[in-house]
Amino acid sequence: DKMVYYFGKTKTEGRGSSKAILGGKGLNLAEMTAIGLPVPPGFTITTAVCDAYYKSGEKMPKGLMDEVNEAVKTLEKELGKKFGDDANPLLVSVRSGAAVSMPGMMNTILNLGLNDAATEGLAKATKNERFAYDAYRRLINMFGDVVMGMDHHQFEKAFDDIKKKYKVSEDTEVPAEGLKQLCESYKAVYKKSTGEDFPQDPIKQLELSIMAVFGSWNTARAVRYREIEGIRGLLGTAVNVQSMVYGNMGDDSGTGVAFTRNPNTGENKFFGEFLINAQGEDVVAGIRTPQPVAEMPKWNRAVHKELIAIKKTLEDHYAEMQDIEFTIERGTLYMLQTRTGKRTGVAAVKIACDMVKEKLIDQKTAVLRVPANDLTQLLLPSFKPTARNAADVLTRGLPASPGASVGKLAFSAEEARERADAGEKVILVRKETSPEDVDGMNAAAGILTSTGGMTSHAAVVARGWGKCCVAGAGEVEINEKSKKIKVGGRTFGVKDIISLDGTTGEVMSGEVETQEPKLSGDFAKLMKWADEYRTLAIRTNADSPADSKRARDFGAEGIGLCRTEHMFFDPERITHMRSMILAQDEKDRRAALKKLLPFQRKDFEGIFKAMNGLPVTIRLLDPPLHEFLPHESASQKIVAKELGVSANEIAKRGEALHESNPMLGHRGCRLSVTYPEILEMQVRAIVEAAINCAGKKIKAQPEIMIPLVGTANELELLRGKVEQTIEETKTAKKFSGTLDISIGTMIEIPRACLTANDIAAHADFFSFGTNDLTQMTFGYSRDDVNTFLPDYIHQEILEVDPFQSLDTSGVGQLVEMGVAKGRSVKKDLKVGICGEHGGDPASITFCHEAGLNYVSCSPFRVPIARLAAAQAAL
Ligand code: ADP
Ligand code: MG
Ligand code: MG
Repeated sequence: DKMVYYFGKTKTEGRGSSKAILGGKGLNLAEMTAIGLPVPPGFTITTAVCDAYYKSGEKMPKGLMDEVNEAVKTLEKELGKKFGDDANPLLVSVRSGAAVSMPGMMNTILNLGLNDAATEGLAKATKNERFAYDAYRRLINMFGDVVMGMDHHQFEKAFDDIKKKYKVSEDTEVPAEGLKQLCESYKAVYKKSTGEDFPQDPIKQLELSIMAVFGSWNTARAVRYREIEGIRGLLGTAVNVQSMVYGNMGDDSGTGVAFTRNPNTGENKFFGEFLINAQGEDVVAGIRTPQPVAEMPKWNRAVHKELIAIKKTLEDHYAEMQDIEFTIERGTLYMLQTRTGKRTGVAAVKIACDMVKEKLIDQKTAVLRVPANDLTQLLLPSFKPTARNAADVLTRGLPASPGASVGKLAFSAEEARERADAGEKVILVRKETSPEDVDGMNAAAGILTSTGGMTSHAAVVARGWGKCCVAGAGEVEINEKSKKIKVGGRTFGVKDIISLDGTTGEVMSGEVETQEPKLSGDFAKLMKWADEYRTLAIRTNADSPADSKRARDFGAEGIGLCRTEHMFFDPERITHMRSMILAQDEKDRRAALKKLLPFQRKDFEGIFKAMNGLPVTIRLLDPPLHEFLPHESASQKIVAKELGVSANEIAKRGEALHESNPMLGHRGCRLSVTYPEILEMQVRAIVEAAINCAGKKIKAQPEIMIPLVGTANELELLRGKVEQTIEETKTAKKFSGTLDISIGTMIEIPRACLTANDIAAHADFFSFGTNDLTQMTFGYSRDDVNTFLPDYIHQEILEVDPFQSLDTSGVGQLVEMGVAKGRSVKKDLKVGICGEHGGDPASITFCHEAGLNYVSCSPFRVPIARLAAAQAAL
């Protein structure tokens, strides 16, 4: 197979190849070259070579360096320069680039090809000695860092010594002579640390660098990043070898990064930063503070104009917002990278809608383009304007990633991870983050940095995750050692709470109250488009009128799961619930249930009203009864007093009800088999609520759902009782109209799937309870799965947590079987799913394909489910 693809004036071999083979960077360099943009020529070594490298025990495949040499020759010819030449040397960068972009995760080496002789040659050719030695010291430093794994502090120390010697504070103030000396001390540092001389043979440099880029694919932080992002199944990284252009040749040169549109808000305005007289990595590293691109015309109007033209060319070509890297060498602009720009959920929605308006994409593409999960960010809380206005603002940084976050200060990534795992909300505070920090950043509620710009590491990563981030808050003095920050003369530590506004960049003292978002504008438009394409109905899991109302506002078309047990925990109700459980006989039980009935009826009435004619699936009591009893002796005493029984009695009853595996025990329909009076009370409450609604001209559409059925006989028996209670209640209420009540069951026991044809004979509908179904199919208890699940994910025994994303190959088979067997008896059997999976886009895709009628999820995930269902249908 071809291992090396050339891009340049001579030929563009990579065009039309794939990201999987060339990596994103390589493919787009070829693409940009082909559409006539100014790209320094070079070549790409494929990801397949990386794969081969690892498969052969980290050895370079045979023939690779021959192909590389060949490509170098072509490059030399095209540019009229020679690798390692002592007159006018060719220099290259060696850049990584996988199929999926992993910002800053892997390594790049610039100025490769310099040695003692070539540096002199470069100085002569450019008539700029300072520049040449600056390039050389950067190469020795990066090569030492990336290829030899040296500690960069050793280089920093040598640089500080030189700066001291010349009495300057900035890197840029060191004169040529000083940099020349610096190169000598760098070489000495290099030799001392590696035991070898800095390699003078450029091809040797190149070979070692290529191996180092391959090596960077499997560093701990790169592996962890792929884990967090769920990136799997890639061959490895490609390696791009590209001729150098220089942003550090003087004040007519520079480098920058930009987005073709604003990645925070989506606004259609070129957005970026540049640094004069600098090389690429200086912008991202946050060493100097860059200027916004909007200021560029003052510096070089022509280059700015050219960039704006390139924005259009790129967007017309890719029909997508792009994230670009560019360099200006003595007034000439070069493009070094383009890729699809990461953006916030807010920006994703706005850009998709705007691009439809601009006729760059059609409606379907717009719907497909917004990652459903990213809508979470539009559904996230913001600060309450009143609370915001009253807030104690400490300082303002850059609004790096929007949102509102509140938490206590954490000073290292590890600390953030630990405290977050222990349930604390923390804000990670760092001078600047680096790729080693990603795990802690992921765990934190928000991120605050004191240096670095809008395109710094913290900003880019946080935006990708939709995590609130304020960057470059220069007034915040961080003391990592004492775990304190100082700002505006005040000091805050690990116990202090601050609030971050990622939309304005403000940092506030204390907890500022947050508020829920609304569905409007472009968001509403996108939702409407999604509704045109989806075939799955979207319901919600709600058990209060407030939740029902919120879910309806988000577009829910019914309630797929109303858990009645949540209604019993209210202080005025729980006592009756407990006396029902403690009752010695049916008579006492019925007396207690009678007191609960009015509460349930009121709840149902409220929900029917909120749902106004939409179906409401009500699950009869499901959890084991011990969950309603107090477990600690102190609270047992209090409850005993309330109920007029002895604490001992409560403890004994609690013990009798205690189950070693409560999830497999006396719960679900098994409760109704033993205590039919519970079922009767609940059904009566439902029917009476429906009758009351009818009196108020509110249409109620209850669907009574019997949980945990494993045999057709259970359902047959209980269905009979439900029907009988409905009739009795109607008679008692002298109601002669018709009520629209259906009776169905949850399918959550594997046996129910296996015998779904028998069960369907007694069911008007099925609702897959995939939480329990997953639990019982895997044999994992949901309550203690976290004791081993992380190991399972880490060791790739499982790809994802099966409680978060439906296990389509295993549990999915049972779902498919349940649907098929059920519908073999009742052709039009209505089938849905409730539980956590109903809001997970991947699981929704599965449900669509399995032919379900609806999914049901928590209110906040309803918009996500609507979009995911549309994407599944497209
Ligand atoms: P990353 O993926 O971390 O951005 P890159 O490979 O894109 O790494 O390179 C790091 C920096 O070096 C970028 O700013 C890039 O623009 C710059 N750079 C890479 N290759 C060249 C080159 N041939 N000439 C000038 N600058 C370069
Ligand atoms: Mg880059
Ligand atoms: Mg269940």
